[in-house]
Amino acid sequence: MAWTCSGATNTALIDNMWKNGLITDARIKEAFLKVDRANYSPSMPYEDSPQPIGYDATISAPHMHASAIEHMLSYILPSSSSPAPRVLDVGSGSGYLTHVLAELVGERGLVVGVEHIEELRLLGEGNMSKSDEGRRLLESAKVRFRLGDGRKGWSEAPREGEEGWGTGWDVIHVGASAVEIHPQLLEQLKAPGCMFIPVDDDESGYNQHVWRIEKDGNGEITRKRLFGVRYVPLTDAPRRAW
Ligand code: SAH
Repeated sequence: MAWTCSGATNTALIDNMWKNGLITDARIKEAFLKVDRANYSPSMPYEDSPQPIGYDATISAPHMHASAIEHMLSYILPSSSSPAPRVLDVGSGSGYLTHVLAELVGERGLVVGVEHIEELRLLGEGNMSKSDEGRRLLESAKVRFRLGDGRKGWSEAPREGEEGWGTGWDVIHVGASAVEIHPQLLEQLKAPGCMFIPVDDDESGYNQHVWRIEKDGNGEITRKRLFGVRYVPLTDAPRRAW
């Protein structure tokens, strides 16, 4: 049903996701409207489908990004009773989701995109620099793109004034399919915290499912298999020169 969401403009694409119930929260809709997908997708930006971005990677379909945010919203949004949200986007690729997340975490929040291909790390950062809003977010240090193996998670110093809340993550989004729920990611998830991760969980190796992992305030973990997907694999960094 996702293709029915495609539109002629960014606004039409987001409106169609709203009408089709793929975005159900007005705050998510607002955030998507602030980010022009044309700055991130080199082809057919307003189609509700994945598009190649080079280096065997794709920008995921908009409905997948919407679904990831819908499933983790309460952990992404700031609340007066808890520290500013810290969000890790593993496999940031085009940088599109990294930017949309940054529109939701509030002024004091932090979003870090981790990529294992330097060219893609630069691509995400460069795509964000195309808009005034993206540049503002980068300059404020609310958004950072880092080079690393996302299977190991990432340790990022807190923003100024946010010291004392540790370096763990309230939210971990994984944008590539993992062979397992990597223990280091689980460890770095705060209590409470939430992770959205596609996993190659079928013996045949052909099927992947998204899992939502929630850690409650006592560190108790709940795992829920959500739905079947087709993602680029979460792998070792390629050896060949591009
Ligand atoms: N959310 C991105 C998805 C890009 S595709 C977007 O919508 O644009 C998945 C990305 O994961 C690719 O960019 C790939 O280079 C990256 N990736 C794969 N394995 C990785 C790893 N071990 N560590 C970090 N990034 C990885």
